[in-house]
Amino acid sequence: MSGTQWQRVAIAPEQLHNDRIGLTAEQQHYLYRVLRLKPGDRFIALIQSQWWLSELRDLETAQRLEMIPVQTELAIAITLMVALPKNGFEEIIRCCTELGVREIIPIISDRTLLKPSPQKLDRWRRIATEAAEQCERQHIPTLHNPLSFTQALETPYSHPYLAVTRTPAPHLLTLPLPPPTEALLIATGPEGGWTPLEVEQSLKAGFQPISLGQRILRAVTAPIVALSLLAAHYEIHSTHDR
Ligand code: SAH
Repeated sequence: MSGTQWQRVAIAPEQLHNDRIGLTAEQQHYLYRVLRLKPGDRFIALIQSQWWLSELRDLETAQRLEMIPVQTELAIAITLMVALPKNGFEEIIRCCTELGVREIIPIISDRTLLKPSPQKLDRWRRIATEAAEQCERQHIPTLHNPLSFTQALETPYSHPYLAVTRTPAPHLLTLPLPPPTEALLIATGPEGGWTPLEVEQSLKAGFQPISLGQRILRAVTAPIVALSLLAAHYEIHSTHDR
């Protein structure tokens, strides 16, 4: 069954009671006012990475009907650790969601100029949700609270890579990338780049320096290029075993 004719709406697990979906005020507005749907009309509920054909019952509830099999996720879980740029972070969230990123960790690095407010995080999560719905993903990327780079390095990651400029490093695609059953993380820096100390600390923490090509990319372009390369690699070289 193709789901293209129905609108997709992300439903949190706590909105579900057996097969009944309690709609939030925002979803009621979207479905009834923006899309002009009526009771009896259908949409797709995105519930914990699965698609469910659902039907509107009344203003506040919908009924979950049947699961629609889909596979739009990358085979590997990719985390993007990204130093907050002065402008353009929302573009990074949107594009990297489209490209299949699983988690985004915003980083306040030594050269980061922006200090985000808590309201920003809500907005960023909304952007990730909307982008995931729009590009028909099953999974909404997790947006973490911003961390300093030093804090972020305290957690061990599987297969962490550091995108670096002006330092000899192998091109990302020349590396033996991990199999899709594992996970990987890629970190990209701010407009001013990583400081030498940040590079040193991350290498000590096990990060592998990589290049994204011969040109210096903008802080907004670099994560999008990294995700494009990785998505292409895993879509060509892996088959889903789920
Ligand atoms: N001002 C810095 C460049 C910063 S670019 C300089 O002149 O060197 C912002 C970030 O994007 C960098 O920290 C790096 O993580 C990433 N980046 C940009 N171009 C890259 C490339 N060709 N290879 C790897 N990483 C790159």
